[in-house]
Amino acid sequence: MFLHGTSQVNDQGHLQIGGCDTSDLAEQFGTPLYIVDEALVRQRCREFVNAFSASGLKFQVAYASKAFCVLAMCRIAEEEGMSLDVVSDGELYTAIEAGFPVERIHFHGNNKSIQEMEMAIDAKIGCFVVDNFIELHMLNAVAAEKNQKVKILLRITPGVEAHTHEFISTGQTDSKFGFDLGNGAAFRAIDEASKLANLEILGIHSHIGSNIFEVEGFKMAVEKMIGFATQVRSELNVTFKVVNLGGGFGIRYVEGDTPLPVAEYVKAITEGIIDFFGKHDYPIPEIWVEPGRSIVGDAGTTLYTLGTSKDIPGVRKYVAVDGGMTDNPRFALYGSRYEAVLANRAGEATEELVSVAGKCCESGDMLIKDIELPKVNQGDLLAISCTGAYNYAMASNYNRIRKPAVVFVKDGQADLVVKRESFDNIIGNDVIPARMQKQALKA
Ligand SMILES: *Cc1c(COP(=O)(O)O)cnc(C)c1O
Repeated sequence: MFLHGTSQVNDQGHLQIGGCDTSDLAEQFGTPLYIVDEALVRQRCREFVNAFSASGLKFQVAYASKAFCVLAMCRIAEEEGMSLDVVSDGELYTAIEAGFPVERIHFHGNNKSIQEMEMAIDAKIGCFVVDNFIELHMLNAVAAEKNQKVKILLRITPGVEAHTHEFISTGQTDSKFGFDLGNGAAFRAIDEASKLANLEILGIHSHIGSNIFEVEGFKMAVEKMIGFATQVRSELNVTFKVVNLGGGFGIRYVEGDTPLPVAEYVKAITEGIIDFFGKHDYPIPEIWVEPGRSIVGDAGTTLYTLGTSKDIPGVRKYVAVDGGMTDNPRFALYGSRYEAVLANRAGEATEELVSVAGKCCESGDMLIKDIELPKVNQGDLLAISCTGAYNYAMASNYNRIRKPAVVFVKDGQADLVVKRESFDNIIGNDVIPARMQKQALKA
């Protein structure tokens, strides 16, 4: 397994992360357990912030909190000088409860409710990223009711298709998100928004996809956005102060993945901006980006205990972990690939080809198809790397399995940031109607 960040194999042959022996972590916190390498998260934040600082442009790096949104993560984002994207009242609530500076919160989503708009306006967040015409007029009405002027970006679908998995690409024309550039919807949206008294247009936004390994898509998006900006300026007399290029920066999940260093993505974007806007004699806007996966993805490791196995000669050997699609649905959703290591025998040579299954009642509940491991025993610890993004965030209680705990590890210290769910959590919202209650329970 490729060792990310502070991960290493210690003298006992155990996987160690953030100076903590994973065998000790399993004993102290139980498994499955999400382990986050705090130093690596902070390093990724700094890579973005430093690369933008070097460009001399005004910027905001907004952590797309949907990748992993818990109170402690909001604290890190703030400490590292990031802004924060939220897509729901729940994410907004989390950010507010973490004390995140509200003026640096941006509200996304293609179907914001009136209640969410009210909550965000009352909280005085920095801006809304408006997705469609209905939202544009709803937001104006809610802002008018509150006698507020609300800052907005308009989400543009630039018609750039990033080369990535079909289910997670959003830049192409056939998308549920945003105002289409090609068919004139984007232009109309700016025109309409500029006439709405309670909205202030800050600029435009695009997000061309996810886990992108090249800079071409970003360069093309920059070019299209700038072409659009210059058209809007000359025909509608609206000048954008902000151009937001979204997230989608790729990470290394498995051998053969070749993402670029963060600085190279940022360089391609900032150079394109300076170059194109310079050519058009247009005041260079602030550049915003929204990395999610590339901030937390490779800093996360999920630690499992191996249980049963099933060897089908000539076909496949399944080994089962004490979690599965409930803590990581990405294989079931996208066929995502992962690497793993036996955390308690990390130094040993690999000996057999196995597939890692979860414990859910669902054949699709797999985590890894075909991985070489040492001969595995019941009770061994399996560490799957690169599970920091869209794992805890997408976890479910299918089969009423309790969501794992999350720990941040750093300099030999492990801090619990999310407790393991309890049985009380599992039935906490259940209600038995009075007519179904047993006599004993009624009393
Ligand atoms: C999902 C999303 C992001 C973050 O994407 P990553 O691939 O995690 O970097 C950023 N902006 C928008 C609008 C998104 O939908």
